[in-house]
Amino acid sequence: ELDVELRKVFKVFNGETAVRGIDLKIRRGEFFSILGPSGCGKTTTLRLVAGFESPSAGEVLIQGQPMNHIPPHRRPVNTVFQSYALFNHLTVAENVAFGLRLKKLKGTDVEERVKQALKQVQMETYSNRFPAQLSGGQQQRVALARALVNRPTVLLLDEPLGALDFKLRKEMQVELSNLHQDLGLTFIMVTHDQEEALSLSDRIAVMEAGKIEQVGNPTEIYERPRTPFVANFIGDTNLFKGRLHAADSSTLQIITSSGLEMVVQSPDAKEWASNSKEMVVSVRPEKIRLSLSPPNSTVNCFEGRLKHVMYLGTHVHLVVELLTGDRLTVMLPNNAMNKLPEPHTSVYARWATTDCIA
Ligand code: ADP
Ligand code: MG
Repeated sequence: ELDVELRKVFKVFNGETAVRGIDLKIRRGEFFSILGPSGCGKTTTLRLVAGFESPSAGEVLIQGQPMNHIPPHRRPVNTVFQSYALFNHLTVAENVAFGLRLKKLKGTDVEERVKQALKQVQMETYSNRFPAQLSGGQQQRVALARALVNRPTVLLLDEPLGALDFKLRKEMQVELSNLHQDLGLTFIMVTHDQEEALSLSDRIAVMEAGKIEQVGNPTEIYERPRTPFVANFIGDTNLFKGRLHAADSSTLQIITSSGLEMVVQSPDAKEWASNSKEMVVSVRPEKIRLSLSPPNSTVNCFEGRLKHVMYLGTHVHLVVELLTGDRLTVMLPNNAMNKLPEPHTSVYARWATTDCIA
């Protein structure tokens, strides 16, 4: 069942297009993330759903109802912003009640709903404190309660954890995930943090320059990025530009501009009929294996030298410079080589034809 739908939505600000024809279908109860670099149009997209912006073209629907002419306060959505924007002169309870009082709700109803919202974020014992007396994480929970008190069916979150330091951020991610499970609401979260999106979301839309590059669950996005941009943005990857040299029913042979021959397993290989088409091969650092002597197979096996070895606790990060001058980033579990080779050692890097994408 669909909860939020965007159909060919555009948003132009003074001649600058921030959102370029976005199609999105977000299901009821889903934790959906919009992920992309700063300035790609994430906040604008969220504001179009909230009703703070109206589309220059296209349509926004919530639960099947056209929303283009419905003002924000009449939409069944509420937004939690990155800057919590709590009122410092009001207590926690008054902050949460603020919106309801504007709506002229009866006093006892307001109290009941504020209590419930604070309970949902485990802040019921803090109702008489002022924001300055709370930690960053607690302030964030109050901001959540302030949105929940309106009983939205869709909760919009714009970089909700962006103002928190690393450790607190990790803790709040767990809380956000629990909250989503407890409430059963649709969450639409905007973030530029790929790890956050991967760990929290049911599905992710990756955005670049006002467009959606790919929508998928975290595994699909990570394992099968559809474009080099997605591969590069979601985790580390090694990218090689090249041209298609040959294709059969299941494999592509690509010659990189530096002259390396790469073989890529691809289920839709025969659709790439046009030879010498420009392509990009992506190989994840953790998919690359290294050996000191030449391996048996020469497929996707390239000779080079170690440039850097960095020990990262559970993993070792290595940079290999191939004979062609290409640089490879390699990530190995720390027990993969019983002894770390010295920099400048000659090594062979290789990967399976199923472990790279084009
Ligand atoms: P993100 O949230 O991904 O960082 P935004 O949606 O905030 O990106 O912005 C996308 C683009 O739209 C940017 O180039 C930004 O400058 C522009 N933009 C956003 N809001 C406005 C506005 N109210 N007026 C003019 N330009 C805007
Ligand atoms: Mg933003």
